Amino acid sequence: MAVVYIGLGSNLGDRSKNLNRALGHITSFLPAKLLKKSTVIETDPVDHQDQPRFLNQVAVIETALPPHELLKALQQAEKELGRKKTFPKGPRGIDLDILLYDGIILNAKDLTIPHPEIKNREFILRHLVELDPALADPVTGTRYGDMIKSTN
Ligand code: ADP
Ligand code: MG
Repeated sequence: MAVVYIGLGSNLGDRSKNLNRALGHITSFLPAKLLKKSTVIETDPVDHQDQPRFLNQVAVIETALPPHELLKALQQAEKELGRKKTFPKGPRGIDLDILLYDGIILNAKDLTIPHPEIKNREFILRHLVELDPALADPVTGTRYGDMIKSTN
């Protein structure tokens, strides 16, 4: 069994409902157990700024699915939950990303773990620390809590 951190994001439609439906989908239709979920926070879009604000959350699940199988299942869930393809980093009803998968490091064409955006997005760092204050980056061993800019 692997412990996996999933990043959830929504900036279209009923965003809060979209996050909850995604969590429901993961626990009902995937061989996965929900261990923990973070609080929900509202964030500004990162790359294309002329789109609605996001609601973001991180969930911790336990699953026997290997990384690529999990990616496929999450992409299928995005489809079934009605995500329309717009453009990368564009608006979406639901975005499901694999942030961390146990302590593995994976650099495949279609799957990078740890997710490369973790260290660039303070709200993800905050969610990870909220879920496990001791959690550290598998690549450098640096605690995520120590990667948060200590300005606030
Ligand atoms: P965004 O970058 O905004 O999340 P998408 O959700 O459309 O955009 O994802 C684009 C691609 O990112 C996917 O086709 C997937 O193969 C790839 N990808 C690479 N690493 C990951 C990861 N850790 N989790 C989810 N998708 C990933
Ligand atoms: Mg994605």
